[in-house]
Amino acid sequence: MARTIPAPPPAFTHGPADTTASGANGLRRDPSVLPEDEGGLVRKVADRDLLDPLAGNVAPVPPETSPEGTSATARTSATPLFRHVRERLPASPDHILAEIERKVRAGERLTAADGMALFAAPDLLWLGRLARHAQRRISGDTVFFNINRHLNLTNVCKAKCAFCSFRRVDGESGAYTMTVAEAVATARATVAALPITELHIVNGLHPDLPFDYDVDMLRALSDALPHVHLKAFTAVEIWWFARITGKSYAEVLHDLREAGLGSMPGGGAEIFAPVVRRRICGYKSTAEDWLAVHRTAHGLGIRTNSTMLYGHIETAADRIDHLLRLRDLQDETAGFQVFIPLRFHNANNRMSDLPMATPLETARIFAISRLTLDNIPHLKA
Ligand code: SF4
Repeated sequence: MARTIPAPPPAFTHGPADTTASGANGLRRDPSVLPEDEGGLVRKVADRDLLDPLAGNVAPVPPETSPEGTSATARTSATPLFRHVRERLPASPDHILAEIERKVRAGERLTAADGMALFAAPDLLWLGRLARHAQRRISGDTVFFNINRHLNLTNVCKAKCAFCSFRRVDGESGAYTMTVAEAVATARATVAALPITELHIVNGLHPDLPFDYDVDMLRALSDALPHVHLKAFTAVEIWWFARITGKSYAEVLHDLREAGLGSMPGGGAEIFAPVVRRRICGYKSTAEDWLAVHRTAHGLGIRTNSTMLYGHIETAADRIDHLLRLRDLQDETAGFQVFIPLRFHNANNRMSDLPMATPLETARIFAISRLTLDNIPHLKA
């Protein structure tokens, strides 16, 4: 039976709440992504996905049975009539996967239907080997690391994402907001203890802090630690700054870059599919806003990362839609440095009764991401 989570509070930026969930109070896992099978192996894709228009020809070949009920395979398959019928049957799953493998090995781009077929592919080791082939073509045997520190300036947030375990209401126990001096002292202490090269700064959407707080913060950190790269503010925060200042995305990003912004993290993308997005994070920017901020950043020469939150109530079709929208923007701008699949964690939030994706499901997500995102140079764990 599908599980429910408490209803999210009403959104202030979007239209009426979606009505597809049947729980009395809110969300439930979409049935197209099923829980583990009894063997604890790979999470299956529901039949609905195989019949999804995106999947198209993924449906299995019907039994070859004659009108009299005898097996057609007992007859010769060389008859013109049989060939005529067979050529009009949908391709079998094996043929679909063989064609995908041919495309990958030839360096051809995969389609949405190919991506859907990969979510239904039974052999995870085959999928992994194929992804490894694509990865080696893109980045060879080189693996990159960096040592950074995450700095979260405030956990006070106007949004109420259902999956969030971090946010607090101002004044609530555990709520905090760093002063500029506290943030600089924390960063200095980290740099003194560890050879970090980067600060990764993401924060709640504080309802009362002015944009100047963030500009002053970046400038102070940049002045104090000029050799440390400042990767700061998700696209959702940039969207928020634009809302509270009335500035354009370009103006906000210009101000932040002047203050020391080096690049942007990829958070806030979650899942682009609007029905799911409204349900799990209806307060934050739309997918179109998220993509517009990154497009603007890339146009200004600011490199960014990209993400996808998986393993909650999204469908396989939602995942493919998300990946291909990122791929489309990368075709346009070439500004994404990495893609990071983010696994939904179910502790201390309003989606705590949902199971988390298994390691094998995570391996499948990484493999399919590598195969479909043929134009983003790196995947990051
Ligand atoms: S915007 Fe970020 S901090 Fe705020 S509730 Fe959503 S995930 Fe949490």
